[in-house]
Amino acid sequence: MEGNRRRSHLERHDLLRKIKEFCKSILKDITERRSLLISINQFRNYCKNLDAHCSCSYDFPQGQEILTLEKQCHARRIDILLSVLLIVQKLLQENIHMSKRDIYYMHPSLYSEQSIVDQAINDICILLQCSRHNINVVGICWERVSSSYLKNLENLLFYHVSYVLNCLFLRFSFKMVMGWLRFLESGAKFDCINSPNDAHPIPTFVEKVKGILTIDYIVSTANYILVVEKESVFHRLANDQYCTRNRCIVITGRGYPDISTRRFLRLLIEKLRLPTFCLVDCDPYGFDILTTYRFGSMQMAYDAKFLRIPEMHWLGAFPSDFEKYGLPKNCRLKLTAEDTRKTEAMLHRCYLQREVPHWRSELELMLQSGVKFEIEAFCARSFSFLSEKYIPSKIQEFERLAV
Ligand SMILES: [Zn+2]
Repeated sequence: MEGNRRRSHLERHDLLRKIKEFCKSILKDITERRSLLISINQFRNYCKNLDAHCSCSYDFPQGQEILTLEKQCHARRIDILLSVLLIVQKLLQENIHMSKRDIYYMHPSLYSEQSIVDQAINDICILLQCSRHNINVVGICWERVSSSYLKNLENLLFYHVSYVLNCLFLRFSFKMVMGWLRFLESGAKFDCINSPNDAHPIPTFVEKVKGILTIDYIVSTANYILVVEKESVFHRLANDQYCTRNRCIVITGRGYPDISTRRFLRLLIEKLRLPTFCLVDCDPYGFDILTTYRFGSMQMAYDAKFLRIPEMHWLGAFPSDFEKYGLPKNCRLKLTAEDTRKTEAMLHRCYLQREVPHWRSELELMLQSGVKFEIEAFCARSFSFLSEKYIPSKIQEFERLAV
């Protein structure tokens, strides 16, 4: 623990030094009447070039954006970047954490909308060559924050109604885990093994998680990790005692996964080395959620090497599953114009062609058929069809292919 604290202190010290150097270079440019130029590396995790030799890379910048005070839109972006940088400097100096939302509410009239703060945070991470959690900015999970964090918030922020409403909303929007897993977070023990079908919140401060182990270390290890898109499916599996019957770990990020969910999942995979499967709706949004887990998001492409999960297998639901599992015709839904547009755009992502052409073929099939369906459609076969037939049969298919 002492080692972790020392490493964290050194990281913070290094980032504070970088911030100081960055500000000094800006001041120098201004005092010496040189035009101010801020160069920000650009990253992307895919392009639209389906040629197998495209130059996309997760880990290297694909160009640079030069910000200058001479352009009005750049001047505003620089202004906001420096304002958020000042907050980040304070967070690092005092070693406290804040969410992106907290930062927005420090100067809502200046920032005008959340996405502007998000862009500034991404720019700062790129400039300092670090991840978001290194600058003490987290995705909030209200009941999981420490008392010192709350105390610091009280000192730093003024509350108003929309902020409180936002927190109340987030209180009920947990990402969850259940199954054959035991871990410590900031000294608190989370023993999912005692009741493997009970939901536990996914830790916000993933760097404080330690002691991840499966029961009896070797004898009773979980067999795999199952990630489900929807909370309703997570609860369906909990009700069906899925983890007890199948000795596994189940996670839901409730739609598009946030950073702490993806970091927690990566930590599990690195520590436990278990096969990992993803179950999403058979629609363009489900597919996009799947690609966010496996390849990362474009917005956070600069950090994809720490967030992507290349081990992720797509368990379902495939467009071809509809016929294969004999689902009733009235469970089919027509693709909307927006669904079609989104699907066509996704088919141009180079990583699908390069790394998972079989996923791309299924997506093409969805577009050709013009229909989609939700995971819950399997309940039309029987109430527990999903947990007793569909998921086990899909897992068995993977096991057969792996032999
Ligand atoms: Zn590419």
